[in-house]
This record gives sequence, C-alpha cells and structure tokens, in this order.
Amino acid sequence: MTADLPPTVRAESVELVESVFQAVDGVLAAFPRSMFLRRAREQGHAGELWDALVEADLLAIGVPEELGGAGGGLTGNTAVMEALARAGIPPLLYSLTSFSREAIRRYGSEQQIKDHVIPTISGDRKICFGITEPEAGTNSFALRTTARPSTDGYRINGQKVFISGADQADHILLLARTAPAGEPLTRRSGFGLFIVDLATPGIALNRLDIEWYAPENQYEIFFDDVEVPSHALIGQEGLGFDYLLSCLNQERVTIAAWALGLGNYALGKAVGYAKERAPFGKPIGANQAVAHPLALAMAEMEAARQVTYSAAAGYDDGRDAGAQANMAKLLGSRAALSAVEAAIQTHGGSAFVYETDVVTLWPMIRVLQIAPINNESILSYIAERVLRLPRS
Ligand SMILES: Cc1cc2nc3c(=O)[nH]c(=O)nc-3n(C[C@H](O)[C@H](O)[C@H](O)COP(=O)(O)OP(=O)(O)OC[C@H]3O[C@@H](n4cnc5c(N)ncnc54)[C@H](O)[C@@H]3O)c2cc1C
Repeated sequence: MTADLPPTVRAESVELVESVFQAVDGVLAAFPRSMFLRRAREQGHAGELWDALVEADLLAIGVPEELGGAGGGLTGNTAVMEALARAGIPPLLYSLTSFSREAIRRYGSEQQIKDHVIPTISGDRKICFGITEPEAGTNSFALRTTARPSTDGYRINGQKVFISGADQADHILLLARTAPAGEPLTRRSGFGLFIVDLATPGIALNRLDIEWYAPENQYEIFFDDVEVPSHALIGQEGLGFDYLLSCLNQERVTIAAWALGLGNYALGKAVGYAKERAPFGKPIGANQAVAHPLALAMAEMEAARQVTYSAAAGYDDGRDAGAQANMAKLLGSRAALSAVEAAIQTHGGSAFVYETDVVTLWPMIRVLQIAPINNESILSYIAERVLRLPRS
C-alpha cells in the first residue's frame, strides 16, 4: 500500500510513515478484512490482528526510542491507524491503548511507565479506557464513580458504560471522582486517573449488544468495593481530568485517521463498482450524479487528511494542537460519512448484500459523529476557544 502523503507530514517523519504503510501489507495478509468482518459478526476478538501488529513492530511506533519504542510520535500513530483503516481493519483497542499509554508516559512514575507503557510494545499490555457513565454521558463533571482512600490505596465503586475492548484488555485507564461527596468538580480538582488491573476482585463485565462491525465488543463495567494499591493512581490526586484533557488531542487525531482510512476504503469500493456496473450499457460512474458525490467526498477527505497530519505534527512539536485536533476529528468524521453515504448509493441494492460489505461501514463511521466526543461539543469548543464567542 502506498502512503501518498499529504505535505503536512513533517520531513523527518516521511520515511517512517511510508514504512508503516508498507508494514500494514504484512498485517493485512495475516488478518484480512474478511476475517475482521467475520470476527465482528461472531462478536469475537482480534487476537491475530494484535499478534500481526507486534510482528510488524507497529505497536512500538509512538513510544519514544529511549523507552525501547520506535519513536515517530503521534504522526506515527496516525499513520498506523490510517493505514489499517484504509485496509478495512482498524483496531479500536489500538487507539485506546496508544492514547492511554501516552497519559501514563506523560504523567506516570518511572515504575508505572515500566509496568504499563513498555509492555504495550510487545502486546503484553492492552489498555481500555473508562470515562463514560450511564447518567453522566458527555458531562464528565457529573460522573459518579468514586475512588475513596482505603488502608493501602483506594476503594473504587461505581459503573462505566460503552467500554470498548474490556474483554481483550488487561487494564483500564479509569477516571473516577476523588473529591468528597457534594464538593464540586473542576478540570483541576476532584478527579483521579487510575490504571486498574481488570482481574481485581469486585470488577464485573457485562457485554452490550452493539450494532456495528468491529471485533471489539463494548461493556458495562461494575466496580463494587474494588481495592486498588496507591500506585494505581497516575500523577497527583485531583488532577486526573486535567491529565486526560491534555492527552485527548491524541485520541481526536487517531480517530480522525480511523475515519479517513475507512472513508478511503469505502470510496475505493465505490469507484471500482461505478466503473463496472452498467445497467444501461455504460458504467454508472459516467453519470455525474454518481461521480460528483464520490469526487466531493475525495476532496473533503483530502482536506481533512491535511488537517489531521498537521495536528499530529503540531502535537509532536509540543504546540497546543487542541484546535487542529478537534477540527481534524470533526472534518474527518464528516468527510468519511459523506464517502460512505456515496459508496452505499453507488452500490444500490448491492450495498445491502451480506458479501458486498458496504453498508457494514456505515455504523462504524456514523458512530464517530457521537464518540469519543460528539461533533456538537467540538463545534462549541471551536466557537468558544478559537472564535472567542461567549460560552454556551
Ligand atoms: C461503539 C462505542 C464505543 C465507545 N467506546 C467507549 C470507550 O471505550 N470508553 C468510554 O469511556 N466511552 C466509550 N463510548 C462512549 C462515548 O464516548 C459516548 O457515547 C459519547 O461520549 C456520548 O455520550 P452519550 O452516549 O452518553 O451521549 P449524551 O451525553 O447523552 O448525548 C446525546 C446527544 O446529545 C447531544 N449533546 C450532548 N451534549 C451536548 C452538548 N454539550 N452540546 C450540544 N449537544 C450535545 C449530542 O448530539 C449527543 O450525541 C463508546 C460509545 C460507542 C457507541
């Protein structure tokens, strides 16, 4: 697979990004789209995909060389996710693990980095991420899961929902309330960020039946008097939400790459079909009503891709990439949705045939208008932080 890189990829990253795209060919041979889809339909797992990522050394990308990784920063992570999604095999747990290990790398102790970041390179540590709760939803300041001091650490009680890959992960990066009951929560007070072993007594998982086509399942997770050691806390007590927010740009960018990769995959299928299908004797792609939506989606995705790699470069340079990362997620998810919609329309009734595997792309992209953060909240962020409009 060729990377066909946008000019926003930094000069020093070009070789790495190209090598990532080539490495994904090997991953695809071990875990093709057909297997990804079969596993998704069987509500299975993506164990072989994970093994292939380790084999191709792709899990080392994004971890600094001094920790035994391959470097490459967020640009590298973005390339891994985009290349896998272009091949139709994007692992959600990859995004969650790479985002979670970044939070630990930035704010964790040396021992926590040794225990939780370095083992991700060999695939021995997979980390899911728990912020969403049934009542609080988008409003994290209303979350109810608590972590109270206990004899040797903290006692956790509460519930999370929609936690992806919790059955395949061994640890969860968990946001919980450490402030006493009734005390208001702010960005810089009242939250703790914890790395919790999912095998700890008192943790129970309940699989949700979700209508989408990925090998990761979603879970409700119940925490009932779960005792965790004090070294499960990342950084300082109280600052958990602040830590999380400063790493969320990474998640926004890798999710944009996921959307754009799958959008590209959908567009490729549509273009192939539009050249072949000829119910009136000439290929349907010769009709502008068919060709223009595909062309528009291509142009929108290219623009979003440039913003995505530019946001990644800004993050890697240590700049505040918040505005660009949010724009990348907004534009990427919308452009990819246009591509998938156009691909469905182009395929006509065939889009719904089991083997054609086109309508299967729709929930994967549609959900990205809502998760991991809804696009309305991103528009509010841009309105308030970039345009300096009054807070809604
Ligand atoms: C497949 C899938 C995987 C997920 N994986 C994870 C995971 O691994 N870990 C995790 O913690 N969570 C996960 N989530 C949860 C996801 O992040 C939430 O669904 C998302 O944040 C929205 O929260 P909610 O569903 O409670 O929607 P609500 O907060 O109830 O919002 C509903 C709708 O109201 C609108 N809305 C909400 N707030 C605002 C606002 N401030 N301004 C304007 N409009 C607004 C939006 O249109 C939104 O879609 C996952 C969800 C799905 C569907």
